[in-house]
Amino acid sequence: MRKHLKRILIFIMVLAMVVPAVTAITNRAQASQQGSTKVANEDVVISSLSTKAPKYIFLFIGDGMSYPQIQAASYYLGTMKSNGGVETQDLEFMNFPVAGTAKTFDSTSFCPDSASTATSIATGYKTYSGTINMDTTLTIPYETISEKLKQQKGYKIGVISSVNLNHATPAAFYAHQASRNNYYEIGIEMVESGFDYFAGGALLKPTGNSGNEKDLYKVAEASGYKVIKTQEEAEKLTAKDGKAIVIAETLADSSAMSYDLDAAEGEWRLADYVEKGIEVLDNNTGFFMMVESGKIDWACHANDAAATIQDTIAFGKAVDTAIDFYKKHPNDTLILVTGDHETGGLTIGFAGTKYDTFMTNLANQKISYAKFDSDYITRYKKYDTKFETVLSDIKANFGLMPSYDKDASKNPTLVLTDYEYHKLLDAYNMTMNGIKQLTQEEKLLYGSYEPLTVTITHILNNKSGIDFTSYSHTGVPVPVFAIGNGQDMFEGYYDNTDIFKRLAQLTAVK
Ligand SMILES: [Zn+2]
Repeated sequence: MRKHLKRILIFIMVLAMVVPAVTAITNRAQASQQGSTKVANEDVVISSLSTKAPKYIFLFIGDGMSYPQIQAASYYLGTMKSNGGVETQDLEFMNFPVAGTAKTFDSTSFCPDSASTATSIATGYKTYSGTINMDTTLTIPYETISEKLKQQKGYKIGVISSVNLNHATPAAFYAHQASRNNYYEIGIEMVESGFDYFAGGALLKPTGNSGNEKDLYKVAEASGYKVIKTQEEAEKLTAKDGKAIVIAETLADSSAMSYDLDAAEGEWRLADYVEKGIEVLDNNTGFFMMVESGKIDWACHANDAAATIQDTIAFGKAVDTAIDFYKKHPNDTLILVTGDHETGGLTIGFAGTKYDTFMTNLANQKISYAKFDSDYITRYKKYDTKFETVLSDIKANFGLMPSYDKDASKNPTLVLTDYEYHKLLDAYNMTMNGIKQLTQEEKLLYGSYEPLTVTITHILNNKSGIDFTSYSHTGVPVPVFAIGNGQDMFEGYYDNTDIFKRLAQLTAVK
C-alpha cells in the first residue's frame, strides 16, 4: 500500500515538473507569434529566450484599476481624437506582448481592500482586508519581494505613489502591520527599510496619533535620508544624494498628489517621479521600482469617471517612461502593469443610454469632485449660495445645463432632463442642509459623499453612457500586462499571489 502511494506521489511530482515546462514553451511560442504590437515586435523573441533574471523590474499598480478603467480611458481618448467617433486609442501598455488576469479576493472578502491585495502581490500570501504583510493570526510578518531583492541581490528599491507614502499599497512593499491605519508605525518602517527612493504624496500622521511623536521626516533625516518637499529641489536630485524621500510640493485632498485633472501647468505628474526614480536608481546591479497610481481608486469610490479616466491616462504616461528605459535595456528589463482590485463597479454602458455612449461629454468636466468640494461646496455652505448661481458653476465646470439655458440647443446631450434637474435640486438641498441620518435611498444615491457633487458626476457619467454600481471595491479580476525579460511567466488566469511567486521564481530569491 505504502509503495503504491509512493509511486503515485512520484508520478504527480513528475507531472508537476513537466506540465509547467510544456505550458511555458507553448506560451513562449504564442508570445513570439503575437509580437506584432508597437512596443513588442523588436525585442519579444530575444527577451523570451533570455535565461538570466531581469535586472530592472518595474511593477506598476493602478489602485482600483481593472479592465473597465483601462478600456474607458482608451475609448475616451479615441472618441476625443475622432470627435465622437467609435475609435479607440490604447494606452501603450495595453499593447504589451503578454497579458494575464489575476483574481483579487482576500481572506475577508471577494471584494478585497488595498492592504490585503498589495500583501498578496508583494509577498504571495492572502490575508485580511486592512492588514499589511501579516498572517491572519496577525502575529507572523511576511517578507516582501522588495525586501528580498534588496537583501539577497543588492537591488536598489524605489517606491512611488500618487497618494500618501505610508498608505496601504506603498506600505505593502516595506511595512508589516496588523492595521493599515498604523500610519506612524508604517512611517517608521519606511525609514528603517533603507530603500533608496520614495516619492509622491505626503506622509499621514507624521507626528503620530497623539501629535507628540518625533516627526517622521526628522526620523528619516537622522537615518541618512535626504528629505525634499519642493519641486525645484526634486528636479536637482541626483544619485549622488543617496537615499531620498521626495514629497510633492502641491498637496491636494488628504495630502496626496493632485488629481491629474487638477494639476497646474508645470506641476510634476506621476511620470516625472518615475523619470527621476529611474535616474537615481539606475545602477549595474539592478533596481526594483513599485509605482502606484492611488487616485484612480479614490475617484472611483466617488464615482467620478472623468477624474478616473484622466488619472488612468496619467498612469499610462508613467508606464511610458519605463517603456523608454526598457527600449534601451530590453534584455535586462521587466515591466509589469496591474491593478490591485476594481473600484466602483465602473462599466461602459448605462440603462438610460442603451447602446450609445457620449464619452466626449466627459471632456466638459474641468475639475475633480474633490476640488469641486473644496473650492465650491465649502463656499456655498458659508454664503448660502442660491441654486441658480450653483447651476452656472455646474455649467462652467461640468458642462451640464438646464433646458432654459441659452446654449441648450447647441448641446443637446448635456441638457438636464426634468428628472435630472430635480435630482440635482434635491441633492443641492441635502448638501445645504447638512448631512443627517441618511435613508436607504439617500445612501444609495450619495454614498458618503457630498450629495450635490456626487449627483453632478452621476448625471454627467450617465449622460456619457457610463455607470457605477458601488462606492466601494468590487470582486472582478484585474489584468496583468507584461513586457521584457520574464514576460511569459505572466500569461494565464491566476491568483494575485502568483504575481509574487512568479517574480520570486524569476529573480531566484528565497
Ligand atoms: Zn479603495
